[in-house]
Amino acid sequence: MPPPTPSDDRAQARWQRDLTQLWPVAKGSLAEVRKPCTRPNCPACRDGRRHKVFLFCYREEGRSRCAYVPAGAVALVRQAIANGRKLERRLVTEGRALIAAQRRTDQKALHGGWRKCWPPAVPAAGSRSGKG
Ligand SMILES: [Zn+2]
Repeated sequence: MPPPTPSDDRAQARWQRDLTQLWPVAKGSLAEVRKPCTRPNCPACRDGRRHKVFLFCYREEGRSRCAYVPAGAVALVRQAIANGRKLERRLVTEGRALIAAQRRTDQKALHGGWRKCWPPAVPAAGSRSGKG
């Protein structure tokens, strides 16, 4: 792996800063469903309304799974899922940027880069080739 460049350092710092904004985070979806309860003679269940519950649905090792979400955690889970989607979009963006940066590096290496021919190198005393 090549050593990190200053632009890598800036990209990494930006990534770390942005990542802290994406907490809480989760991957999955939130489903609102109606379930019957176990109480005998429950009016909501008797007339068919049943009880509203939220499920967090996700995939794990290729299998779909769901977990009950306590009513007090619905907003938190909703925010986590939204952040997870932002994170996934960001990962795609970062991957594309990584490839674009590598292409620029490869192009410079292939064509020598304009820095090698302009400005003309001025030999400096005690220095072999200046910086870079
Ligand atoms: Zn009920």
